Amino acid sequence: ANHLRQQAKLTVYGRKPRKCNVPINEQGKYLKISQYYGENVYNYHLSKSLSLEDKDALKQVIDGKRTIDKPLATKIANSVLEWAISKGATHFCHWFQPLTGSTAEKHDAFLNFDNDRAIETLSASQLMQGEPDASSFPNGGSRATFEARGYTTWDLTSPLFIQESTNGKTLVIPTAFVSYHGDALDTKVPLLRSDLRINEVMTKFCHLAGMKDVSKVYSTCGAEQEYFLIDKAFYFGRQDLVMTGRALMGSLTSRNQQLEDHYFGMIEDRVLAYMQEVEIELYKMGIPAKTRHNEVAPGQFELAPIFKDANVAADNNQIVMTVLRNVALKHDFVCLLHEKPFAGVNGSGKHLNWSLSTDTGVNLLEPGHNPHENYRFLAVVATVTEAVYRHADVIRMGIASHGNDHRLGANEAPPSIMSVFLGTTLTQILDSMVSGGKYVASGKTLLDLGARQLADLVKDNTDRNRTSPFAFTGNKFEFRACGSSASIGYPLSILNAAVIDIFEETNAFLEAELAAGKSQDDALTAVILKWYGNAQKVVFNGDGYSQEWVKEAEKRGLGNMRTTPEAISVLKDAKKTNVLVKSGVFKESEISTRHNVMLERYIKCRQIELKTLAGMVLKQVVPAAVEYKAQLAESIKKQKDCGADSSLELELLKDLSNHSKSLYEQTINLSTSLDDLHHKLDEESFAKKIALELMPQSVKIAELCNRIEEIIPDENWPVPKFYDMLFIR
Ligand code: ADP
Ligand code: MG
Repeated sequence: ANHLRQQAKLTVYGRKPRKCNVPINEQGKYLKISQYYGENVYNYHLSKSLSLEDKDALKQVIDGKRTIDKPLATKIANSVLEWAISKGATHFCHWFQPLTGSTAEKHDAFLNFDNDRAIETLSASQLMQGEPDASSFPNGGSRATFEARGYTTWDLTSPLFIQESTNGKTLVIPTAFVSYHGDALDTKVPLLRSDLRINEVMTKFCHLAGMKDVSKVYSTCGAEQEYFLIDKAFYFGRQDLVMTGRALMGSLTSRNQQLEDHYFGMIEDRVLAYMQEVEIELYKMGIPAKTRHNEVAPGQFELAPIFKDANVAADNNQIVMTVLRNVALKHDFVCLLHEKPFAGVNGSGKHLNWSLSTDTGVNLLEPGHNPHENYRFLAVVATVTEAVYRHADVIRMGIASHGNDHRLGANEAPPSIMSVFLGTTLTQILDSMVSGGKYVASGKTLLDLGARQLADLVKDNTDRNRTSPFAFTGNKFEFRACGSSASIGYPLSILNAAVIDIFEETNAFLEAELAAGKSQDDALTAVILKWYGNAQKVVFNGDGYSQEWVKEAEKRGLGNMRTTPEAISVLKDAKKTNVLVKSGVFKESEISTRHNVMLERYIKCRQIELKTLAGMVLKQVVPAAVEYKAQLAESIKKQKDCGADSSLELELLKDLSNHSKSLYEQTINLSTSLDDLHHKLDEESFAKKIALELMPQSVKIAELCNRIEEIIPDENWPVPKFYDMLFIR
């Protein structure tokens, strides 16, 4: 009998929602969010020690108009120190995003000595630069072992903030992480490069399109984050969740998500209390959490912030993931960010809502109020569509991970075919422009994309399509195929690179058309026709999960890379990765680095999964089966002794014997081939073997486990079941 699982259940039955320190005023009333929002974010505008000139200089640095010098850095360091100490911080840390996919930080106390007297200091160089040992972070072979130095440098465009823990506060300095040779060892550097280039290329586009007052353009992102919550007591009862973040086996319950009653359902108190504490923490750190709701699967939820510029949004999302995880533990939950923690129920994604914004406040993906703005808008849509069409393979590569393989290509999530959803209205408008016809909307002829008509049309017709990996949603694109655990900096920098590439062509084309004497509207129309005529093939508004689409996409010549090894092989194809280098977002050497890191990571994660699965089978499932077999045999003997009918027991015993024998053999086989192949094959072939042969074998093993789970009495089953984890809170 299994006491641990039963005990865990009893523990969970007794849980209560946790109360946290909600910010209150002197009268004990809850503060408004606006009263404490950003209180842990350093705001140089409020600094008393910085002069107006200093603040002006700093602003210019942040806007990339000048570089920072030592005297200014010293003044800022002093101001930052003063503020951090007043907030109660004792330490500072350089916080960065190495290629592990998560974040890293090394803490130093402000403590220093003035002769023998202990004092607090933060020097300009401590603020500006750190030197962590790069050899402990993935570098993909980009650096000889003797040259282990790596540098973190302060990213002035991302705010400094204070992170609170139960017993203290730390000043967090967002930094970029580069090698001694200046190669990006993180996800931030390419994203920052992409934003510089987006600014350059898109500002030029705006000028060509008649927006002369624009002096800056940047990409924006709002990342909707999906996650699962399960009780901590169950989590630690499952090795697979602890080791891999995913339940490697488990029989589905009778009610999963077919009633569709969880999505947007009432949020139960224990979960709501958790969400509220998460939000309070985020608000203090200046992260604008906006939306919270139940997601489709039982035990699945979502948090969406208000969008920001892409770089800060990427930093914020890392903090969101950290806070979701940390606060969960305080509430006796564990937050699962894995893309597919439970086979058979919905997986988790991260929807990257993406657009381009000008410093004059124009969203370039917003349909306009007059014909000219509408031509510009359609030209932007057409160019982005061409970018996804031409660079689909690198974009697909950017979201590849072992976890996301269970979503992409599985029939419960966006498929691994990169297609663009534009909605019927927009598609019809573009289609008719290309075919030289006129768009007719409900009786009205849209001859000249007349004032407001398009904006209203698009707004009224942003039919939602949950099955598209890249969907236009009225005034932005929603890149829905990104994995829930991923660092979004990587896919964002790749998407930006693709867009930069095509807009460079758009700009050159526009310039030529204008020089040839075309009006701006005619030149923009020519852009629309040029790109859309070509990129039409990538536009698909139907059911992306259907088998028909897979066939249709193949006919259209669109790529469909179902597994990570296949997707990352793109990084070895210079023709395909050229866009990343040409756009100035990645260096050539960084491409092979990324390939090595992604490949290594895929192999390691899969090895851990396969070994964990084998361990659970041999140490938990098989012993449980053997134990129940013995019970059955005993019972059969007793029945025989008294002449009773034991045919049921015999049948159960036969089934159980067959399944567990075959489970045992298949598991031993899998373990043996895992070791064998690792020795025999090079890394790339090994990864492919894992994806195409070992993973399907592991699915068969999981299925056998599930059949055994269904035979064995509930109280004898050793690990928490899907029912426990998804329904007991
Ligand atoms: P839904 O779940 O219906 O897609 P949500 O409200 O959950 O919508 O999320 C929409 C996300 O898109 C939010 O994070 C929002 O801030 C973001 N967003 C809105 N406009 C833009 C924009 N111009 N650029 C980037 N993100 C945007
Ligand atoms: Mg949402």
